[in-house]
Amino acid sequence: MVTKGDQTILVTGANSFIAGHIIAQALAKGYKVSGTVRSEEAANKVRKTFDKYQSQLYISIVADIEKPELYESAFASSSTPITAVIHTASPFTFAVKDNVKDLLNPAIEGSTAILKAVKKYGGSVRHVVSTSSFAGVADLTQGLRPGYTYTDKDWAPFTYEFAKDAEIVPAYGASKALAEKAMWEFVEKEKVAFTLTTINPPWVFGPHHGGPPPLANLNVSTGMLWRLVDSPEVPPPDFLSCADVRDVAAAHIAAIEKADAAGKRYLIGNKFTYQDAVDIARETIPSLQDRLPKGTPGAGKGLESYTLDKTQVEGLLGRALTPVATTITDTLTQLLEAK
Ligand code: NDP
Repeated sequence: MVTKGDQTILVTGANSFIAGHIIAQALAKGYKVSGTVRSEEAANKVRKTFDKYQSQLYISIVADIEKPELYESAFASSSTPITAVIHTASPFTFAVKDNVKDLLNPAIEGSTAILKAVKKYGGSVRHVVSTSSFAGVADLTQGLRPGYTYTDKDWAPFTYEFAKDAEIVPAYGASKALAEKAMWEFVEKEKVAFTLTTINPPWVFGPHHGGPPPLANLNVSTGMLWRLVDSPEVPPPDFLSCADVRDVAAAHIAAIEKADAAGKRYLIGNKFTYQDAVDIARETIPSLQDRLPKGTPGAGKGLESYTLDKTQVEGLLGRALTPVATTITDTLTQLLEAK
């Protein structure tokens, strides 16, 4: 019988916020993990975070995710067969100077490069799971879209040409949609021996695995929540939904373990506005009472807008998603402990 200890999951972007939880859950379940990062500094950070799992974790450097050949050693150095790949590495930053070089190419070429690498070096890989995004699903031009439910049939309507010079939010949405499309096309055309599943979250919040992150250098989604503290006003709604990082990570692992996840796109998230976040945090975190803008309490709940179809992902997880109140409280509570 093949046990989890006989299987290695290769995780790209191993130092990312979301990968931290994917790796933690995979190691706790007994899998081995081969993580890739693009610098020695990031590699050392991940090794330190998972210090007690030294025998289950191997980290290697892939300096350029657009080059499939750089993954060769990550595949070759695994002591047990790599049976699954989780691809999280992709630019998620607002500090983009050149949409093509900094965003579109690493996202799109990076997504096909990992598939080319699996095809060439990963003969034992059965499943690839990619961290896509609701930003690649939502049609932002439709606004609040009351009554509409986004499903796995929806795609953000952006073209590469448009994205080259677009503002950062649609450009990021395009990078995720086009990267995901490129992956589906690859598996279709190349008749590969592995399945593909994508996980498509909106804002991902929740505590960071391994302790609070440095406030001066927060990942984008955590920064979106932290900016509420000491802000004079409540920001307007944007993606109108969020997911808990622990659920997002669990969905990636479940997609490897459950055969019927093959070929599916899983939207994952609950309705969410920043007004909800301040309403929740003022109630659950006493020390934030006077540090959060009031806005119009309750207005978030009353806002009529689209929702995400979460029935498929709840089926995959075998449970309901974590309530937004838990996610917001846990995120901000951890950030208050940060330096
Ligand atoms: P982080 O910012 O924590 O991590 C991003 C990861 O991608 C890091 O490992 C980073 O490496 C790597 N990366 C970024 N650009 C490049 C590049 N050009 N070449 C190689 N590696 C690169 O983000 P998250 O954990 O939030 O995001 C992880 C994934 O989840 C991304 O694919 C993102 O699009 C997706 N996602 C995130 C959501 C969220 O709200 N957090 C929502 C929906 C999807 P380095 O540290 O070296 O820069």
